[in-house]
Amino acid sequence: MERILLSSPHMSGNEQTYINEAFETNWIAPLGPNVVRFEKDIANYVGVKSAAVTDSGTAAIHLALSVLGVGKGDTVFCSTFTFVASANPVLYLGADIVFIDSEPETWNMSPVALYRGLKEAEKKGERPKAIIVVNLYGQSAKMDELLEVANRFNVPIIEDAAESLGSEYKGKKSGSFGKLGIYSFNGNKIITTSGGGALVSEDEDLIEKAVFLATQARDNAPHYQHSVIGYNYRMSNVVAGIGRAQLEVLDERVSQRRAIYERYHQELSSIDGINFMPELENTMSNRWLTTLTFDPAIVRFSPYDLMDLMSKKNIESRVLWKPLHLQPLFVNKKFYAHNQEENSVSEDLFSTGLCLPSGSNMTEIQQEYIIHSLKKLLSKRLLVNQF
Ligand SMILES: *Cc1c(COP(=O)(O)O)cnc(C)c1O
Repeated sequence: MERILLSSPHMSGNEQTYINEAFETNWIAPLGPNVVRFEKDIANYVGVKSAAVTDSGTAAIHLALSVLGVGKGDTVFCSTFTFVASANPVLYLGADIVFIDSEPETWNMSPVALYRGLKEAEKKGERPKAIIVVNLYGQSAKMDELLEVANRFNVPIIEDAAESLGSEYKGKKSGSFGKLGIYSFNGNKIITTSGGGALVSEDEDLIEKAVFLATQARDNAPHYQHSVIGYNYRMSNVVAGIGRAQLEVLDERVSQRRAIYERYHQELSSIDGINFMPELENTMSNRWLTTLTFDPAIVRFSPYDLMDLMSKKNIESRVLWKPLHLQPLFVNKKFYAHNQEENSVSEDLFSTGLCLPSGSNMTEIQQEYIIHSLKKLLSKRLLVNQF
């Protein structure tokens, strides 16, 4: 049997049309009509003034930090419960990083911990240059509360919406709340261009500045002249063709992933000790990955056991993101917990959670097989030592 993957590319069939347009006009490079159109489509979809497409989501974060002026001697606050790509660009720029814990209702940045971090910085006469808020697995963070805290200390938010394209928070698209927002079109995301990203903002000047930096920061002169460090981060016109076609089916992909979640939930939620990632009231998650946690007092498998056992059945699953403040790369970085008296929320999630295959191209039969396999494994949980 074919291995069932966590999330694999799902083409719409229309990609080839836009790629062919690029070939027929020999607009292979640079930029070109697909890029222009893809950027317009993204901005419209998300409901912001301006968008720039890049060759990765990581590049978009790097640009976002750059246009906010982050550099050596600065500090950036960042969600701890995320993929390393959220934080790496802070290191590229030589800035220091402080990690903020999750809160239990969204698994995303805790406004309480953020407040404590900002208050402490203020007491020392310091202020971070930016806050990177991540919306994990499709669930938006508590943007109202986070914005209120951030605004109080006058620090801009960069929304890492790499995993939450198509999701909504209080009727507005996820990724459109910060000063800048970023998306990723990496191969495993809800839509993909094979690799790519986008930077969005209500502030057209910031996007213009980002595009300038993304194209080697060339000054207005008759020769090649450069006054600041630039990058080569723009998306190609061929790749943008894939993006245009993918964006056309984004809402369909969101419905499909939500249906996958519903089926898992229906079949598994009555099992003792299983909890699904919550969906905050007034939000709509794209359910990029269905994720659940196991109560260790009831389920005597660790997420690693389950991951291995599922793998033997040709099912790819994955433990949740390892919090960045626990990564060797970030040893000794400051960390603010949600509740100082209790275990860190992100560490608890990491030690108890698992992502299940959630690709929109997964068949119902495949999903039934996953559900059946998981139920069978869990029913044997008391015999854990026999495995
Ligand atoms: C995928 C991802 C990124 C990085 O996007 P790339 O396009 O792979 O560079 C950043 N942050 C989060 C949370 C992601 O999941």
